[in-house]
Amino acid sequence: MSSTKDGTMIILSSPSGAGKTTLVKLLAKTKKYQISISHTTRKPRENETSGKDYFFTNENEFKNLIKKGEFLEHAKVFNNFYGTILKPIKENLDKGNNVIFDIDWQGAQQIKNKKLKYKLITFFVLPPSKQVLFNRLSNREMKDKVIVEERMKEFNKDILHWKNYDYVVINDKLESCFQEICDLIDSEINKSKNDYNLEFIKDHVNKLIS
Ligand code: 5GP
Repeated sequence: MSSTKDGTMIILSSPSGAGKTTLVKLLAKTKKYQISISHTTRKPRENETSGKDYFFTNENEFKNLIKKGEFLEHAKVFNNFYGTILKPIKENLDKGNNVIFDIDWQGAQQIKNKKLKYKLITFFVLPPSKQVLFNRLSNREMKDKVIVEERMKEFNKDILHWKNYDYVVINDKLESCFQEICDLIDSEINKSKNDYNLEFIKDHVNKLIS
């Protein structure tokens, strides 16, 4: 049983480029949530620092951590391995800190299946349109058109997992999406009513996949 002192686990997933990482950083800063820093075998991007954005590692080390049972969840995403080490997460939650995860649908599913004693709230972040997603990815991966194409293709598959999340939010304007997530988290933690509109989300998903 979760004790009232325990922190809450908050997962944000999204197709790549929907702006989830910015939202995670904003939530951490404003609400003082602890960000779960993942391990990955992906090479660092120019603006990324090891120990802050990710713990960058190689495949051998990663497989070793799997063997030792250190991961709460791990998955292969875009040909690289990503995973969350359990120990620091548990320590934070036991201290009463809320922990926020920027992980894909496979990781979210694994954490859900683990049925840990801590409260879990899951969000799937969607872009307002495919064109906006394409523009965001093109800006980020300017040097690599192949990556943009690969991630657009992946989008059509990723989006199908929206149903497994507690809430789906549309990241059109960062500020209002952020506020919506904050309100939904508060309503979950305080067990109060919220005005989440599932029908609207279903329509939006249908538009994105049509
Ligand atoms: P990126 O390489 O763009 O930083 O991340 C690619 C994808 O991997 C994103 O969807 C991100 O949420 C996901 N990801 C990052 N860390 C983890 C992790 O620890 N576990 C899982 N399952 N996915 C992760």
